[in-house]
Amino acid sequence: MTIRELLDHGRRMLAGGSTRALEAELLLCRAIAADRTRLYACPEDPVPESQCETFFSLLQRRLEGEPVAYLTGTREFWSLPLKVTRDVLIPRPETELLVETALESIPADAEWRIADLGTGSGAVALALASERPRCEVHATESSQAALSVARRNAGNLQLQSRIFFHLGSWLEPLEGKFQVIVSNPPYVASNDSHLEEGDCRFEPRQALTPGSDGMAAIRHIAEETRNYLAQGGMLAFEHGHDQGHSARRLLAQLAYDDVITLRDLAGLERVTRGTWNG
Ligand code: GLN
Repeated sequence: MTIRELLDHGRRMLAGGSTRALEAELLLCRAIAADRTRLYACPEDPVPESQCETFFSLLQRRLEGEPVAYLTGTREFWSLPLKVTRDVLIPRPETELLVETALESIPADAEWRIADLGTGSGAVALALASERPRCEVHATESSQAALSVARRNAGNLQLQSRIFFHLGSWLEPLEGKFQVIVSNPPYVASNDSHLEEGDCRFEPRQALTPGSDGMAAIRHIAEETRNYLAQGGMLAFEHGHDQGHSARRLLAQLAYDDVITLRDLAGLERVTRGTWNG
């Protein structure tokens, strides 16, 4: 079969709007190890039988719900191409708000210490390291498998010299003080039906839910972070669209100052931050 025939077949199989057409392209690129320009530049090229089979099997897995990012093994975040496996949460576009929030508080030439707790694929830590070359970024992760994905991403992006990776839970492996601490922790309540839908079904459970009321990891992080922030340092974390109020109340109770919640592009409360003045 030719590239064009395979693409038509893929689009029919996945059927539906433009997103699905794009998915067929991404899966075909993966199967024939080419980029998207080749699909359009050489539509009449014949594709070897084994690669056709690979494509059909990817289509089948997609039809069974497996996320495109796991099938292609990549996802872009903050314009950085990241490797993703089933050991890590798939980076979400709304998490770019966490990066933006942190960057707003870090001057371009700052030589600060920054920590990303529960880094997963490394998305947030890598985005910050790429934007603030003089900062020292520390990323923690309790899953060894996830940490090795993050390390590989740092290597691929040639950012490994600016990031220190630590195996361990939240702040536990860290020492010293930081000017900025960020996290995209698990915040979905364990009984939320959302966990049984879409991409979430295939993602590491511990990256999505703290296993209880949804605020458990956030509460732990907010309490402990007070011991790790330099005077005037900032904590910023992502949370669910309905957790803004709880997040603000928590930070206020813990004596953080300047507590505010920011909204993502969909207009939902998504990131709360506060300053620690000791
Ligand atoms: N936003 C994710 C979701 O849609 C949850 C990510 C997280 O728990 N950090 O489920």
